[in-house]
Amino acid sequence: MNQDISLNHARMLDEKDELAIYHKRFFNSDDNLIYMDGNSLGRLPTDTIQRTSRIVKNEWGEQLIRSWGINWYQAPAYLGEKIAKFIGAGPDQVVVSDSTSVNLYKLAISALMLQPERKKIVTDALNFPSDLYLLQGCRQVLGGKHKIQVLEPVDGMRVETRKVLEAINEDTALVTLSHVVFKSGYLYDAKTITEYAHQKGALVLWDLSHSVGAVPVELDEWGADFAVGCTYKYINGGPGAPAFLYVRKDLQDKAISPIWGWFGERSPFSFGLEYAPANGINRFLSGTPPILSMMAIEPGLDLILEIGMPRLRNKSILLSEYLISLFDARLAPLGFILGSPREIEQRGSHISIQHPEAYRINQALIEEMNVIPDFREPNNLRLGLSPLYTSFEEVWSCIDRIQRVVTENKHLSFPNIRQVVT
Ligand SMILES: *Cc1c(COP(=O)(O)O)cnc(C)c1O
Repeated sequence: MNQDISLNHARMLDEKDELAIYHKRFFNSDDNLIYMDGNSLGRLPTDTIQRTSRIVKNEWGEQLIRSWGINWYQAPAYLGEKIAKFIGAGPDQVVVSDSTSVNLYKLAISALMLQPERKKIVTDALNFPSDLYLLQGCRQVLGGKHKIQVLEPVDGMRVETRKVLEAINEDTALVTLSHVVFKSGYLYDAKTITEYAHQKGALVLWDLSHSVGAVPVELDEWGADFAVGCTYKYINGGPGAPAFLYVRKDLQDKAISPIWGWFGERSPFSFGLEYAPANGINRFLSGTPPILSMMAIEPGLDLILEIGMPRLRNKSILLSEYLISLFDARLAPLGFILGSPREIEQRGSHISIQHPEAYRINQALIEEMNVIPDFREPNNLRLGLSPLYTSFEEVWSCIDRIQRVVTENKHLSFPNIRQVVT
């Protein structure tokens, strides 16, 4: 849909936006900065500043080890229940623990061990590479018997549902995909895939890192078996904040974590010498969690709970549709190609735009234009839209500054040599 591309229209959209008030619930030291990387590291909620200083001073400084008994020991489950509310999970199925990578490993091994006679794992080439590395590691640890089928995308941005279903058969132990894929933002039809996998007797593990807090997730309704996800992206939990994992209730006492740590033990403070897994979801915990990072997630969770996923999704769609309109009018004529699906129902909350010079354009934006997007190989400029704090005017300015970089050839003065972190 074509929209008015004037700056005034952007301002009018902000005036009409009922979530605009949440912009000031985030720390902002530079009003001119256009931050488009909230899908990689979310902004700092202002409440987190007070919360973390309270954790450090009162809970650690004053209460010392007593805090374990007050609120620390329960934190993985307590915070897990808050996340459960916006990923469509009933109680006692979600805990916060470890990193997304470690959680994926724990759950993939559990799933494969539940189906020892089945030898196939289905995933795709759009998956986050770490997820693929972890699956390769699982295969190795389990004796090299599994075959990992990596589905290729049709147009570089999506694998059709039909192709996924075709790959699932009676030998499939596990189907694991990113619900929203990290480069193109393609959003899988999770319910259809999960239901079909179950018809074939396979288990399904969803990585929700790029969907949680940005698109609706209904784990119980889909019938998902396992899920993992990240808290430092759209949840705004802070750099390296611990991740979460979900195991469907009726699988919890059958599935075994490969990491037999004391936090997942039935009675950790008996200090017995033989491991017995805890009942329920707690068996998927491993060791002492990073309390400072873990407690810092809560203000981000509370903001999402306060607004609710339907309103967040609605704003996210308005932002992305608006961005695509501006893209068509102002960037497509400069040789950019849209690297994300145009169909709303197939799209998460970030948009990739592609250009042969994307790497240098990204540098020029960061160094000279006060815009922070990110770059993903080979030619993607990724623009993250956080429904909690991105404004329509920021989207307008982002596109305006990208256009200026290209028309004024600002990117040509930057080297084409890749840096360590992009
Ligand atoms: C961000 C992300 C991760 C991050 O994993 P870490 O263990 O936190 O490094 C994993 N998977 C996907 C799909 C992601 O987008």
